[in-house]
Amino acid sequence: MSQKPDRYAVIGNPIAHSKSPQIHSAFAEQSGELLEYTRILGEKENFAHHVHDFIRNSGRGLNVTVPFKQDAWQLVNEHIGSAALAGAVNTIILTENGQLQGANTDGIGLVRDLANNHEVELAGKDILILGAGGASRGILAALLEQQPAHVLIANRTASKAQDMALEFQSLGEISGSGLQNLKSQNFDIIINATSAGLNDRIPDIPDTLLRQNGVCYDLMYADKATAFVRWGQQHKARLSLDGLGMLVEQAAESFFLWRGVHPQTAPVIKMLRP
Ligand code: NDP
Repeated sequence: MSQKPDRYAVIGNPIAHSKSPQIHSAFAEQSGELLEYTRILGEKENFAHHVHDFIRNSGRGLNVTVPFKQDAWQLVNEHIGSAALAGAVNTIILTENGQLQGANTDGIGLVRDLANNHEVELAGKDILILGAGGASRGILAALLEQQPAHVLIANRTASKAQDMALEFQSLGEISGSGLQNLKSQNFDIIINATSAGLNDRIPDIPDTLLRQNGVCYDLMYADKATAFVRWGQQHKARLSLDGLGMLVEQAAESFFLWRGVHPQTAPVIKMLRP
């Protein structure tokens, strides 16, 4: 009798655009792991039901995307790694004893894309994060672990950035401010974690923000250069990158948490790059 594949899925709303099934299928093929990976279109009021239903039907783990990362954080029995402080879970793992563990692999994904795929050193650097939403929360612990000189979170709503900096201050040098306070400052690395790019826009930022040889990174990705990637190119960034590499790297860490295997990410990034 042939063995049944283990079941995994990504849950979000909307979900049709998700590249996760393609990424995990490629990882499975590459590593010889027998698994099936599908999409679940979740309804906001039924998130817990969707998860329990999937697990009951032999599901072994889930990726969680917008808008359910906070719901997932509340649902799981235990937080692992940086998920506790992030307040958001993007990976659910079913343990041997039937418990649900929640992890957040977004930060590791970003750091690995910068450090391993693009050789960008983070230690000792001045880093600016634009935006203080869920994505910023998810990346902060992993960034601070690399011991940058300082991380500034700048947000349209200043109080959200200031509150977030206070929450993470035990992990390293971090502060928060409004976008309007950025005028006389500059940075080695600027990370766009706002959702302004969804409307092909960038936050209102000064032209002098990026240091010479600086690096721009947009968490968003698209088939053509995003608005922030274009901003980086126009402002002479040494590298101006989008978040496709982070997407694949965070998926690789989820795959590792589920299967104990580190897949190769480079061929998968290459496959997805238009
Ligand atoms: P949230 O809705 O939680 O937060 C949005 C943030 O963007 C807030 O800080 C908001 O400011 C700010 N913002 C929105 N519009 C503007 C604007 N016009 N000008 C200035 N600031 C603005 O979103 P997320 O944090 O979940 O997601 C942010 C981005 O990160 C998305 O594009 C998402 O696709 C991407 N992402 C990519 C991942 C990857 O793997 N590559 C993983 C996770 C996220 P305010 O507080 O003032 O409203």
